[in-house]
Amino acid sequence: MPIRVLPDEVSSAIAAGEVIERPASVVRELVENSLDAGASEISIRVEGGGRGLIEVIDDGEGIPKDEVILAVARYATSKLQNAQDLQSIQTLGFRGEALASIGAVTRMEIETRSRDEPIGTCLCVEGGKVGTPSAIGTSPGSMVRVKDLFFNVPARREFLKSERTERQKISEFVSRYAMAYAQIQFSLELEGKQRFQSTGSGNIRETLAKVFGSETAASFLQIQTMENSRINIHGYVSPPVVNRGTRRELTFFVNGRWVRDASLNAAVLQAYHGLLMVGRFPMAVIFLEISPSDVDVNVHPGKTEVRFREPDLIFSVLQRAVRAALIGQSPVPGVELGGRWGSQSDQKIMVNPDWQLSNDPAVQGMESRARLQPALAGSTVPLLRAVGQIGASYLVAEGPDGLYLVDQHAAHERILFDEMMLAHEDGNIESQRLLEPLTVEFQPGSSTIVDENISILGELGFEIEPFGEHVFRLRAVPALLGIRDPERLLRSAVEDFEEDEAPLKDEHEARIAARVCKRAAIKSGQVLSLEEQQKLLRDLEKCSVHRSCPHGRPTMIHLSVDALERQFGRRG
Ligand code: ADP
Ligand code: MG
Repeated sequence: MPIRVLPDEVSSAIAAGEVIERPASVVRELVENSLDAGASEISIRVEGGGRGLIEVIDDGEGIPKDEVILAVARYATSKLQNAQDLQSIQTLGFRGEALASIGAVTRMEIETRSRDEPIGTCLCVEGGKVGTPSAIGTSPGSMVRVKDLFFNVPARREFLKSERTERQKISEFVSRYAMAYAQIQFSLELEGKQRFQSTGSGNIRETLAKVFGSETAASFLQIQTMENSRINIHGYVSPPVVNRGTRRELTFFVNGRWVRDASLNAAVLQAYHGLLMVGRFPMAVIFLEISPSDVDVNVHPGKTEVRFREPDLIFSVLQRAVRAALIGQSPVPGVELGGRWGSQSDQKIMVNPDWQLSNDPAVQGMESRARLQPALAGSTVPLLRAVGQIGASYLVAEGPDGLYLVDQHAAHERILFDEMMLAHEDGNIESQRLLEPLTVEFQPGSSTIVDENISILGELGFEIEPFGEHVFRLRAVPALLGIRDPERLLRSAVEDFEEDEAPLKDEHEARIAARVCKRAAIKSGQVLSLEEQQKLLRDLEKCSVHRSCPHGRPTMIHLSVDALERQFGRRG
């Protein structure tokens, strides 16, 4: 075929595909326009997973009657004047492509009225064909209604994911933006049902509670940097005990724009190093404010990626800010005394002092439920005195600020894991030789895991060698775990994965170490002498992270003197 210039409607449909990939991209573009227009209320309505209908209504500044036609033209924008402006973009939009792209692949209807004009304008665009604007009576602001996505691009339409997936994407997007713009009231209606609504009160924690549930939101720790005036980072991260099986709950906004960025993810994950079981991920909502000239947002058609001028600086500032929040504020969960023992109302609510307190009773209620204790001075464990053991499983200890209950198994798991990882970092884990080498046979699946990890197991102190099909010979085990039951110890490294635990994939060392430490740790039900209890508490005090086991469960709970006095009615 000879070379021909494509007809306009074909080339614009192709170009539109860059910007509009799926229903969620339409929602993103329209909502970003509403935000740029200074709206204080944004309502989104979606039908048929967004293929049928997407409607976004805002009370923003509207489009003046003379500019409506331009607004739907490609590369027409009110947000940028020259190439230099590209270096200091303050708005979410800047390419002037969205309305043109949406108009090219849908049936679109715009009703808009500028705040300065007495009457509004209505305009339809269908498959790229722009209609004639007409006057209508409407209140200031804009409404964009988009129907039949990709009706004229069958190839695209067929590749859309299920309606359910699209609804999830849209909900995710709207709730994320509601967190970033807490002063704006968002509402989302899906298939005729109100699915999400934020109050627009400006209180981020309140919005977090709407998105994540009040208990999870109340547990979040606040992060804040002040050290570097060029980067301001603030937001919320989950304490290690609140974790997820995916990194999808790591959310970043750069200058008010939701972005995905592997190095931001990595910075946060590094801050949790040693606090979370491998394969578990924290939750975070983090806002980075950077001078627009230090970040390039013009990288990706969907504007979901950015490029930083100084990525290393941002990485380290972010990593430190999160780490500081985790180490400094990580609360020891307090004992729930509500319900049977005492009435909820007469308990003092202890809240981290730098929390924003809301006047909304719902939010106060949620904070009281979480019952967070203020950070302990210097955040080290107070010196604990062993008092005794309960149910051969929990140690009772006294500290300077009250009573501690320690889960002996979780605590010992943490101690062993820390020792093992520390020795591993120094490259000198001691092995203890078995009197006789032991032959161990595995199921085929497990034997593959052993095979693949022989050298890592070696670094951790297991001396093993292949000895026939699925059979290995074990000569030595890590000394610090003891030789009581070497075979079970080795098996624990590769067998019986818990439901939410992926088989050893990455960060093998930590994963394997956590598994064998769990096996080797003192069990619940094991009676300990007072000396053994005291030693366990000492060792726990030395751990860098003493408040959770490597699997993320708490090692201890705390009942303050203050709370005790209240319970006994000594204080009002
Ligand atoms: P961009 O946002 O990159 O400028 P768009 O195609 O999304 O490009 O929008 C084109 C123009 O239409 C914007 O620059 C803005 O002037 C106007 N516009 C679009 N949506 C709205 C809205 N909801 N309220 C006010 N003006 C809008
Ligand atoms: Mg736009």
